[in-house]
Amino acid sequence: MIQLEGITKSFGSLQVLKGIDLMIEKGEVVSIVGPSGAGKTTLLQIMGTLDKPDAGRIVIEGTEVNRLREKELSAFRNKHIGFVFQFHQLLPEFTALENVMIPALIQGVSAGEARRQALEMLEFLGLKERSGHKPAELSGGEKQRVAVARALINRPAVVLADEPSGSLDTRNKEELHRLFFDLRDRLGQTFVIVTHDEGLAQQTDRTIHIVDGKILSDSSQDSSQNSSLDSTQDATSAPTL
Ligand code: ATP
Repeated sequence: MIQLEGITKSFGSLQVLKGIDLMIEKGEVVSIVGPSGAGKTTLLQIMGTLDKPDAGRIVIEGTEVNRLREKELSAFRNKHIGFVFQFHQLLPEFTALENVMIPALIQGVSAGEARRQALEMLEFLGLKERSGHKPAELSGGEKQRVAVARALINRPAVVLADEPSGSLDTRNKEELHRLFFDLRDRLGQTFVIVTHDEGLAQQTDRTIHIVDGKILSDSSQDSSQNSSLDSTQDATSAPTL
């Protein structure tokens, strides 16, 4: 669960977020839409503890993250939050497998176990055959799926995605979108996706429309399409993929 209360943020004299109150339940797939410059990425960065608000309260999975010190915060982030960006941000000198292993290694998992988990995740995403390839040897869609595997390896409760399909063609875009819903159904993760893609936004459980640093509307889609929510497992305790 993610709870934001009274979030404000300015860059110099520009107030980008003007008091955001938001509650996102576990297992929801939520899209954040709005015009360019509305504050969507800033909001996602604050939700992901990558940036701090000027004021307001942020509670993620029961922890009031704005009270954590920097070291505790980075440990919290690595354990509970996965990020997927428009440009995959994989490390070019490492293989797909090694890229996926990194968050688990940071988490203190042994190299052997991190490798096992990374291979399992890559297999789940249909990338096992590509595990030894470096990013330059992968297609755009494959790179983005490796980035999703990396975001998920620690089974974070929350996955934050910023224009995740922005650099993909239609087929890869649809595949990636299906993957998010499949993961939510199987693992029960909460997904928050900043997107300009109306098709994706319409498929999500709920769409939050941000304009000029404020929530203009917050609407749930037809819940009959999302009945699988009821069968979600706990992301952190799901034994196998
Ligand atoms: P887009 O859809 O174009 O990505 P957005 O809604 O995600 O836009 P943000 O990236 O959150 O918008 O930016 C909101 C405003 O804050 C913009 O005017 C941007 O120029 C400004 N801004 C964002 N980050 C910074 C920063 N680090 N320093 C100064 N200004 C910033």
